[in-house]
Amino acid sequence: MFDYLIVGAGFAGSVLAERLASTCGKSVLLIDRRPHIAGNAYDHYNDDGILVHRYGPHIFHTNSREVFEYLSRFTDWRPYEHHVLASVDGLLLPMPINLDTLNRLYGLNMNSFEAEQFLNSRAEPKEQLKTSEDVIVSKVGRELYNKFFRNYTRKQWAMDPSELDASVTARVPVRTNRDARYFTDTYQAMPLHGFTRMFENMLDHPNIKILLKADYREIAKVISYRNLIYTGRIDEFFDFRFGKLPYRSLEFKHETLNRPVYQPEAVVNYPNEHLYTRVTEFKYLTGQEHPKTSIVYEFPRAEGDPYYPVPRPENYATYKEYQERAAKLSSVHFVGRLATYRYYNMDQVTAQALAQFEKLRKSQRLASVARKAITYAPGADGGARVGGNLPNPSGREDADAA
Ligand code: FAD
Ligand code: UDP
Repeated sequence: MFDYLIVGAGFAGSVLAERLASTCGKSVLLIDRRPHIAGNAYDHYNDDGILVHRYGPHIFHTNSREVFEYLSRFTDWRPYEHHVLASVDGLLLPMPINLDTLNRLYGLNMNSFEAEQFLNSRAEPKEQLKTSEDVIVSKVGRELYNKFFRNYTRKQWAMDPSELDASVTARVPVRTNRDARYFTDTYQAMPLHGFTRMFENMLDHPNIKILLKADYREIAKVISYRNLIYTGRIDEFFDFRFGKLPYRSLEFKHETLNRPVYQPEAVVNYPNEHLYTRVTEFKYLTGQEHPKTSIVYEFPRAEGDPYYPVPRPENYATYKEYQERAAKLSSVHFVGRLATYRYYNMDQVTAQALAQFEKLRKSQRLASVARKAITYAPGADGGARVGGNLPNPSGREDADAA
């Protein structure tokens, strides 16, 4: 009998496993259908001995001191600021668009003030910024939008930016200074020995058992547990009863080249040419020195692993139906990018998991107070409830004790 079955060994599942085991002494079975821990952040040394990210480039950045300090218990860091270039009109230009992007694209020599005026004269102000098109066109006008955003977004999402929530392209700022960093967060760093090593350290606890290549449906039948934390797709958990939540997938084409350097920055985006969206050269991220170099191309796909929830109001409406259903299962907790259908970064998922842990801890305290009260009542059974294997998806379960 495990206190917790946790489905998914990515950030959401691993953070909760670590917290529950090391601070509450809970026994945890952590499973994943993949053959490795670390979820989409998984990295490994390839056949040539180069550290690569199997599921595309993962760069850690956060403004949360709490998240950074928490993860720092399991890894040292390598300071790293991410830089991206966009291939536009035969040039490789800084992305996000900044002063240098504008000057080089138009052969000008503007200062920041002039660049601001330049953008203002082209911007098409909108009353409301509802879509991903609105966000960009209202800042830089249609020409720059077409060169840098429209086709990248159509390729990535198989949808016009006018059909996508504003939050998608709002992830990428526009600047009139010379700051060429992709992120401006307070903490920007890469785990010194990689993400997988950080996860290994996080999960190295006698109360945590790990089972890989193990699907929830198979394992739930043969294992006993009191509570379930689920970090997979919420629609799959409920057998798609309210319909499939749409996801975008990617195909990753990894290559190792017999040369030390391939491209001038870590990532080059290709908004207009090619079927892929971007090329990442891992040695920039990891700082590894090696006579060869490894890169990955990302080809957007409709089918495949669910990587990106698609931010659109109708999809959130469907998610809401699942969420309401989920709220009825008090001993099942849905956490993470897939289970809460949020386009979250690693730090946001970590913060979400830490918040969920605090909720569980609080309910544990309440439950233990309630248990004591019941124990002293004559004839009452104050023992912990022993749950069945599969949580009953059809109705509210008894209140659980974390
Ligand atoms: P996941 O990492 O997806 O983990 C969920 C796990 O559950 C998976 O391993 C899956 O196999 C397992 N699972 C699902 N269903 C079942 C089941 N039924 N049975 C057993 N196991 C199951 N974030 C950043 O902060 N910076 C970046 O630079 C960045 N780059 C990204 C690039 C790409 C291409 C992608 C796709 C994402 C990127 N992210 C980045 C986001 C980051 O990957 C996520 O925020 C984070 O990995 C989410 O963690 P998670 O635990 O919620 O989900
Ligand atoms: N985007 C774009 N052109 C770019 C970079 C990003 O149009 O050169 C848009 C695109 O819609 C993309 C979104 O901005 O999906 C978010 O970009 P980000 O780099 O944050 O995507 P992620 O790293 O999550 O794939």
